[in-house]
Parts: sequence; structure tokens; C-alpha cells
Amino acid sequence: MSLLIFSIDNKEQKEVNKMYHVNNEGKIYPCRAVVRPCPYGKEWHAETKNELYHKILQESPPNEREIEDSLLRELQALGRVKSLYSLSKRIEEVPYPLEILVSNIEFAINYIERKDPKKMERKWDEFKEEASEAVYNVLSYNLDLIDDIPQDIRQKGRELFKERLNGRYVSFAAVNGDKKGFVANDELKSMRNKFRDYEKYKKFGFTKEKKEATLRWLKRDFDRFSHDLNTSKILTKPFFYEDLDVAKKTIKTLDDYELLGAYDDYLVSDDEVVKDIMASNYFKYEPRPDLSREANLKMKEWYDRNRSIAKNWESHVPRRVLLSIEIGKELDRRGISRQ
Ligand SMILES: [Zn+2]
Repeated sequence: MSLLIFSIDNKEQKEVNKMYHVNNEGKIYPCRAVVRPCPYGKEWHAETKNELYHKILQESPPNEREIEDSLLRELQALGRVKSLYSLSKRIEEVPYPLEILVSNIEFAINYIERKDPKKMERKWDEFKEEASEAVYNVLSYNLDLIDDIPQDIRQKGRELFKERLNGRYVSFAAVNGDKKGFVANDELKSMRNKFRDYEKYKKFGFTKEKKEATLRWLKRDFDRFSHDLNTSKILTKPFFYEDLDVAKKTIKTLDDYELLGAYDDYLVSDDEVVKDIMASNYFKYEPRPDLSREANLKMKEWYDRNRSIAKNWESHVPRRVLLSIEIGKELDRRGISRQ
């Protein structure tokens, strides 16, 4: 792979208190402030990038987060998500699929973490009790049971019948038209929809095990997509790629915020960027079985684009060093504190 033109230091230095920060452009970089205080403020620093990925999203206004209705509905029905399929439609439509993924996955993680599986479990346990009583009632009037009763509820009702009446009937409603028997039967019938939800819950719903398993894969996906997104943001800095003299002129025209952001872009070391690119597997996209075909194509497009940007980046490295010096000088001239 030609991309790897820099050797990476294997004996990774264990730096104590290595910090990362979020700059004004929402990019996460290693913080280098040692002598001077960092311009980005203490609250935008953390020891892991991951912490900051979460923080950026949590601090952004809810209406900007573009949380998908279909995702929210799945969360409300099951207490968790089975896959990312509910995001497919949106991913197909937007030019920024990774932002949609990261934002929605983070939302789902938070939602699921706050949910207590015990509450839902208790709710369905109570329903099972109630429904078993209804089954018992119908049996005690010697009426036939409707078909759609979940197996375990049917079983429990039969046990109650055996336990309490030992095979004797209260009355034979089908023969003597005992109204109480038909009322009991109607009650059981009215539970049909809930029986369906109960079965769904048993199969896909929110148990402690499912909560943990869901959070595991969601967090893995979140880490990956937010890393790829951040790496992409680092690489897509237009004037990385401009002619040196043009870039020098551009520096003078940037406002203070942009200038600080640019300084961050230039200060990051080549090794670090290469490591980030490697960690994103050179932006090679593996289609996901839980996204639609169209959404996968959209994702591949994004990854392919970034892959070629990464290739382009490597040939522009030498001038970055020169430019970082220029930007540093300009910041000092304006009296802006820099790290
Ligand atoms: Zn900093």
C-alpha cells in the first residue's frame, strides 16, 4: 500500500497526562499546550478522544442532531435497537452519512444506558400473571382456548386450573350458556394484541443480556465512525493543498477562529495523522448487512472520497511544516494565545 510512506514509531511513548482537545471547528486533536495555557479551555479537554466525541454531540442542540423517527420508535418499542437499519433511508438521502450515524448511535447509546430492563421485565411479568389468570378462568368454564396465546401463558393457566380445581369445572358454559364463562372468554380475547407484543418482547425485547450486547456493538460502531469522521475532518482542510504562496496569503485573510483552527490542523504530526488513517483502515469500506443496498453505496462513496483525500494529503506534507510556522507567526502578530 503506497499510502504508508512514513515509518511509525513502534515503541509508542507512554506520555503521562496526554490530553486531547476539541477546537473551534469541532475537530479533536492532541493538545500540545505545555508552556502556555491552551486556548480551547479546560472543559474541552479529555484524556481520551472518545470522551470528546461524546461530549461534542451531547453539547449540540437536540434539533441539530437529526435523530431519526424510525430509530426513536424502535427504541421505544423494544428498549433497544436490533440493527442500524432504521437509519438507511436517511443515509441514502444526505451527503453527510457519517454525521447521521454518529449522532444517532450516540443518541441510542444514551437512551439504552438510561433504561432499566427490570422495569420492562416487571411489566411483562405482571402481564403474564394476569393473562394466566384469564386462561385459568376460561378453562374453568370448560371453554376452548383461542389460538394466539403464548405457550408459557397457556401452560401457566393450565397449571393454575389443575392446582385449584384439580380437573373439575366451575360450569360447562358451552352447554349451559353460563354468561360468566363468556365474559371470561371475551377478556382473554381482548388480550390478543398484547399477546403479540409479549411474544415480540420475549424474542427481541429488553433484557439485561440484550441491553449489554446491544451496547457493545453500538459502542464499537460509534468509536469507529467517530474516528473516521474526525480523521476525515482533519484531512479535508482545503488549503493544505493550495500553492504555498497562495496559502501564505490566505493565512492573512483568515479570522482569528479560523486561524487557530488552521494552526491545529498544521500542528498535528505526520505520524499521528498516518496512525489515524491506518486506524480507519485506509478508509476501506466493508458493506454492512444491516444497511440497505443504497445506503451502503452512499457509505462507500464517502469512504472512497476520503481514501483519495488521504492519498493526496501525503504528497502535501512537506509544506505543512512551513505553513505551521507562518500561522504561528501570524497568531503571535495578532496577539492571540496559542498552545
Ligand atoms: Zn488543548
